[in-house]
Amino acid sequence: MQQAIKDIVIVGGGTAGWMSAAALATILNGRYNIRVVESDDIGIVGVGEATIPMIQRFNTVVGIDENEFMRETMGTFKLGVEFVNWGRQGDRYMHGFGRLGQDLATVPFDQYWQKMRQLGKAAPLEQYSITRMAAKANKFMPPNFEVRNSPLGDIVYAYHFDASLYARYLRKLCEQRGVVRTEGKIVQVQQREGDGYVEAVVLENGTRIAGDLFIDCSGFRGLLIEQTLKTGFEDWSHWLPSDRALAVPCESVTPLTPYTRATSHKAGWQWRIPLQHRIGNGHVFCSKYISEDEAASVLLANLDGKPLADPRLIKFTTGRRKQAWNRNVVAVGLASGFLEPIESTSIHLIQSAIQRLIDFFPDRGFNEVDIAEYNRQSQFEYERIRDFIILHYHLNQRTDSEFWKACAAMEIPETLKHKLDLYRAHGRVVRIDNELFSEVGWIQVLEGQNAPIEGYHPLVDVQSEGDIHEYLESVRDVIGKCVEVIPDHAAYVAKHCMAP
Ligand code: FAD
Repeated sequence: MQQAIKDIVIVGGGTAGWMSAAALATILNGRYNIRVVESDDIGIVGVGEATIPMIQRFNTVVGIDENEFMRETMGTFKLGVEFVNWGRQGDRYMHGFGRLGQDLATVPFDQYWQKMRQLGKAAPLEQYSITRMAAKANKFMPPNFEVRNSPLGDIVYAYHFDASLYARYLRKLCEQRGVVRTEGKIVQVQQREGDGYVEAVVLENGTRIAGDLFIDCSGFRGLLIEQTLKTGFEDWSHWLPSDRALAVPCESVTPLTPYTRATSHKAGWQWRIPLQHRIGNGHVFCSKYISEDEAASVLLANLDGKPLADPRLIKFTTGRRKQAWNRNVVAVGLASGFLEPIESTSIHLIQSAIQRLIDFFPDRGFNEVDIAEYNRQSQFEYERIRDFIILHYHLNQRTDSEFWKACAAMEIPETLKHKLDLYRAHGRVVRIDNELFSEVGWIQVLEGQNAPIEGYHPLVDVQSEGDIHEYLESVRDVIGKCVEVIPDHAAYVAKHCMAP
């Protein structure tokens, strides 16, 4: 198909559809016709309320004002995820955003901490992180870069928001930028004879919408990428066996916590995401080990406030589409695959798919080499995030449930095994290429879930034990003092992110 593209059709108006439309409308600057087709009858999945810090880059590119965005989406701030009962029953740790301590010479900070911990002379790891200590104190402010060398400049954050309000907010922004919205249910997809490229979609009322490039944001069904093009799905449920979620909002309680909580249960785990007007909750579980009724009872028994609706069931299979880009169809969002939200990665995967599409934008037609590279990068990204999520399940010492015992005993991907082996030997985490989660992210989960470790980086011993002790204490002391000046999260949200 060697012809310039003109018409871009985005199938689906959930988070993926409207994020794609917003980014393309902004970056392509009116050079292409962009249309979003969505069905009010089908609706959106409506969950997806926690994010990771990269979303700030998306908002900046699209030109979103943070305070307005928070107001419109009933948002709160997120400094990390607190994990409860993951290693052993009763364990609790925080995977906070941003750095740990201050690096000294060439050896990462955590290596000095590791040595002292092995000697029984270090405070818990979280005390060396400004975001984790602020989160624990329910405090929040954006980074302040004006105080030189201060941990206050190291605050890294993301957002919690209402997914339905986010889609509505982006839609308004897109329509102001020339994106056309068509409401209607697609009942037919027309393909070109010969090569099977998608030519048009046809709505229930007979309207035919033709396009050159189609972005499939139709959710789990994958209307174009799977139902039409039969691209195929790589099923990862042997590693990530949870296959259902029950979601329910409940009334807000105080304090307004600036973090997501993930609490593991007998056969899965429960999320808790505080918003301005309610708390979003959901129980992700494996139907082989617990019935839907029992899973609903567990969810309802573990809410902080009164439920505001009946639990809603969502079924899923973890895995990825074998090709995210097939012919003239690029799948974005749930149409491209699903990884459960332990680390809030799905919205990020939408964002990075859009970035990749921009990198390989098929302005003058479709090129197999570009498509293959797009798919290679997409596969790499999915697989590395998958490994990180498997880590949470696999690295547990729970003996109280068959589900957790099976997760601890399961075979894991070689790539993950390699990471665990490197960590066990000397506490090293090696980040391959530009995989999403940093060394600091891995270390917090490895440490938080009691990963076996036998040593630390040998160059740590170049410093004397006394110097290391003094250095760790000074970092901890400065962080403690900084947390004192950070405002309360609820007060910050009330001042900056609520309608007057
Ligand atoms: P959807 O929201 O399902 O949208 C599909 C769109 O396609 C709709 O507009 C629909 O009307 C349209 N459509 C479908 N078929 C047709 C048709 N025939 N004709 C016309 N229109 C059609 N992500 C995070 O980042 N953080 C989280 O905390 C998080 N939590 C999650 C929890 C659960 C249980 C699940 C399942 C997902 C979670 N996610 C999370 C993922 C997140 O919800 C999705 O990535 C995000 O909502 C994007 O969804 P989507 O736009 O791809 O699909």
